[in-house]
Amino acid sequence: MTDKQRLLRELPSVDEVLRSPQIAALEAKHPHELLVDCIRQALDAQRARILSGKAAGSGDVPKVAVDILSDLLRPRLVRLINATGIIIHTNLGRSILSSEAQKRVVEIGGSYSNLEFDIAAGKRGSRHDHVEHLMTRLTGAEAAMVVNNNAAAVLIVLAALAKRKETIVSRGELVEIGGSFRIPDIMSQSGSRLVEVGTTNKTYVDDYRAAITDRTGCLLKVHSSNFRVMGFTAAPSLEELVALGAEHGIPVVEDQGSGVLIDLRQFGLPYEPTVQESIAAGLDLVTCSGDKLFGGPQAGLIFGKEPFVKKLKKHPLARALRIDKMTLAAMEATLQSYLNPERLLAENPTIRMLTAPKEAFAERASSLAESLADVLGDRADVSVEDDVARAGGGSLPLADIPTVVVTVKPRDRGPDRLERALRTGSPAIICRIKEDKLVLDMRTIQPGEEKEIATALKRAREAV
Ligand SMILES: *Cc1c(COP(=O)(O)O)cnc(C)c1O
Repeated sequence: MTDKQRLLRELPSVDEVLRSPQIAALEAKHPHELLVDCIRQALDAQRARILSGKAAGSGDVPKVAVDILSDLLRPRLVRLINATGIIIHTNLGRSILSSEAQKRVVEIGGSYSNLEFDIAAGKRGSRHDHVEHLMTRLTGAEAAMVVNNNAAAVLIVLAALAKRKETIVSRGELVEIGGSFRIPDIMSQSGSRLVEVGTTNKTYVDDYRAAITDRTGCLLKVHSSNFRVMGFTAAPSLEELVALGAEHGIPVVEDQGSGVLIDLRQFGLPYEPTVQESIAAGLDLVTCSGDKLFGGPQAGLIFGKEPFVKKLKKHPLARALRIDKMTLAAMEATLQSYLNPERLLAENPTIRMLTAPKEAFAERASSLAESLADVLGDRADVSVEDDVARAGGGSLPLADIPTVVVTVKPRDRGPDRLERALRTGSPAIICRIKEDKLVLDMRTIQPGEEKEIATALKRAREAV
């Protein structure tokens, strides 16, 4: 008998593992079938290790089965601390919700609601009715609706306006956002044919004009989001495009990307076109994300002229792309906070983090630095420094947002081990590394998280 055969024979049976003390103790709390399943998975894994020559014994099958079970029961989607200074961090969930929006999610998610019920009339209602009046009031649009995200918004707009027709887009606006949203791909999914006009840096209204035929379904303008073309550039104004569309009876649509409703220049940020400006310029439809600069839940906001929005609401894709009730509840609260600009700046986390002056973080930074210095003693140099934060999420790519950071520079080694220890702890703390220092940016660390950071560093002391 070979070694492998002997080891395979020594493997316990499922029943034997079930009788082991570790597993027997779990019988009261977990379904028998689930335990058997985990044991089988553990046995399969050990068998595979034996066959590949990686196992020297029959292994601790009960322990592996328990690990498989706890791994199943442990949430994988977890809260973490964003110390990167990237506010709309796409990988870390983009925008976070205000406390009012959070409350609404819990309330509506945990009970029946009038999602599609008109309480006054006692009959079927529309989920769009809960937010449309807010969306139109805030932007001056005639009509509005919300869908699952902005990619969905662009998809349904093009499908409704330009299926089996052509969509004219400037070559300078054929963007890819986040590796999965490419304007040409969305266009082909919508059934519309892309007609590129102009060049990467210069496109004129006459380029659009020359491309118009009786097959043209719409003129599309796309916000360049995560990149900028510098130097000699030209693009037609919204007004020019609107006039051209009107001349030929062709709708003009804009994918605005970030979703800005306030003038960001008053906070020292670069100018970003607002939804109101596009609506005022006469665009037929404008779409944007709900969870980028707008600072709400994941959603796609669509604003525009009544007949077009009506068409979208009736489109078969509206059902497939519709917004869920918990998201809608968060969106309603987010929109309501826009009615009061002061409240918005204070309560909307994304807007607050984007617009707060760096001085607002100084006190929290020094108190965090103090507690970290206490924890680390002479193992590391801790200091408070000025640095630059980013909007993230492909928004405001050129904005350097002044910020305050706490840096930790271990005395005896580089910061990599410490960075890893914080990242793999619980809660995970995600930091930047800059010139041999670990950087904790106060702009994205939420008030109250400092304590958890100090505790995490206490645990990670050995890595310093
Ligand atoms: C981000 C972005 C999208 C995609 O929006 P999601 O809400 O992520 O689906 C589409 N167009 C532009 C211009 C964007 O910036």
